Amino acid sequence: MVVDGKIRILILGGGFGGLHAAIHLDSTLARSPNVEITLINRDNFFLFTPMLHEVAASDLDLTNIVNPLRQLLRRVNFFAGEVEAIDVDRKQVRVSHGVDHHHHDLAYDHLVIGLGSVTNFFNLPGLAERALTMKSLGDAIHVRNQLIALLEEADTECCADIRGPLLTFVVAGGGFAGVETVAAVNDFIRHAVRFYGNLGGDCLRVVLIHSGPVILPELGEQLGQYAQKELTKRKIEIRVGTRVSGLTDRGVALSTGEMIETRALIWTAGTSPNPVLLDLPCEKEHGRLKVNENLQVPSCPGVWALGDCALIPDAKSGGYHPPTAQHALREGKILAHNLTAAVRNRTMRPFSFSTIGQLAAIGQRAGVARIFGINFSGFLAWWLWRTIYLSKLPRFEKKLRVAFDWTLDLVFGKDLVQFQTFRAPTISMKQESIDRQSALASGGSSDTKVKGNYR
Ligand SMILES: Cc1cc2nc3c(=O)[nH]c(=O)nc-3n(C[C@H](O)[C@H](O)[C@H](O)COP(=O)(O)OP(=O)(O)OC[C@H]3O[C@@H](n4cnc5c(N)ncnc54)[C@H](O)[C@@H]3O)c2cc1C
Repeated sequence: MVVDGKIRILILGGGFGGLHAAIHLDSTLARSPNVEITLINRDNFFLFTPMLHEVAASDLDLTNIVNPLRQLLRRVNFFAGEVEAIDVDRKQVRVSHGVDHHHHDLAYDHLVIGLGSVTNFFNLPGLAERALTMKSLGDAIHVRNQLIALLEEADTECCADIRGPLLTFVVAGGGFAGVETVAAVNDFIRHAVRFYGNLGGDCLRVVLIHSGPVILPELGEQLGQYAQKELTKRKIEIRVGTRVSGLTDRGVALSTGEMIETRALIWTAGTSPNPVLLDLPCEKEHGRLKVNENLQVPSCPGVWALGDCALIPDAKSGGYHPPTAQHALREGKILAHNLTAAVRNRTMRPFSFSTIGQLAAIGQRAGVARIFGINFSGFLAWWLWRTIYLSKLPRFEKKLRVAFDWTLDLVFGKDLVQFQTFRAPTISMKQESIDRQSALASGGSSDTKVKGNYR
């Protein structure tokens, strides 16, 4: 169906997959006057997730790992909104946006779905309400704020009795995200604690919970054991073969029956495909959309999918491609090629890619990496991690900012500023507070409520 003589293409999700598809279409199909391409994403920026833990641990400035989508695209339109539903029969996508969350139904001829995954708490009690997560920039800022808030609280005399739980930090998940997070958090709080007169390094407890026998299973036993040894040297307790079974105000309950008293559990132990896909009548497996080697969803004509929400056959292994950033961005390129081919009646190219390498930073200028089957560890692996990921970060400006941050980090300490986003007190709030206090002091009751966050 072509309306107004234009073929409409919607790309849902501006992450590794969606953005790279859009970037490649920007210089090909989007040049065509009879094609209109729109990228829809919740945030108006692209998040570079491999460096997220560096924001949470105050190694990098908050906005250096994100890039405004409008600055990455020239001809592809951008729409900042929340995708709420997809109607494949009517070929429409329902999007909400604006302060009042009003809706639009956007029509498409081709739909590219790259909505990634969401955190999965596996219905464990208390986690959805209380656990910290590491998926978005907001999550990383929140983690950083919580770490600082807990140090501030623990330093006060009135909290001496609960210092133990306040200064116990637990990370669940021994995969890449969990290990990088626990290492970065450990480095940060052990550096920060020097500035708190009533606290010392001995007051801190950092625990990593992992369900398998060795952390970083993707890198193999040898590197996993190496990472465990290095993290243990830095006073991180590693509990392998253990699961989180719940979270309360008191702390984390473990599958062993033990309870770790803490106010901070960072959960990185599970993801599931985006819930927007739940009602789609297309073929799925474990919630991921089944695509063919050209990245088309055969069960829903006109629909394409890539990244973490797609199940992409791997002809070499006979299995499926793993959900990683290095795959998603390459899928974006092939999808753009095949979509262009579909519109112009040309030949498509099947997606084929083998993992080049996997790397993890484990703190204190050490890392672990397996590249082309060769293992690296220590400083060299950490240097490779920084060099490779810096080269992958989009836009020269952001590369430069990150490189500057890392250089300055060699000379200066980590920043302990808490980023609060509430409004500063205003005179009217102050007056209301005074009125309320004087009403209470004169024995009367006060109906006046202190609004906002005046403290
Ligand atoms: C902390 C962390 C560290 C990681 N480190 C690495 C690493 O070192 N190497 C590696 O290869 N992989 C890493 N990954 C995995 C990697 O980030 C993913 O595999 C990759 O991002 C998948 O790309 P995607 O395009 O499918 O999804 P994403 O990149 O997650 O993009 C999905 C986009 O869709 C948007 N979106 C979702 N729902 C909606 C909605 N309803 N409406 C509007 N927009 C929506 C999101 O905001 C997001 O922008 C890491 C992941 C995390 C969380």
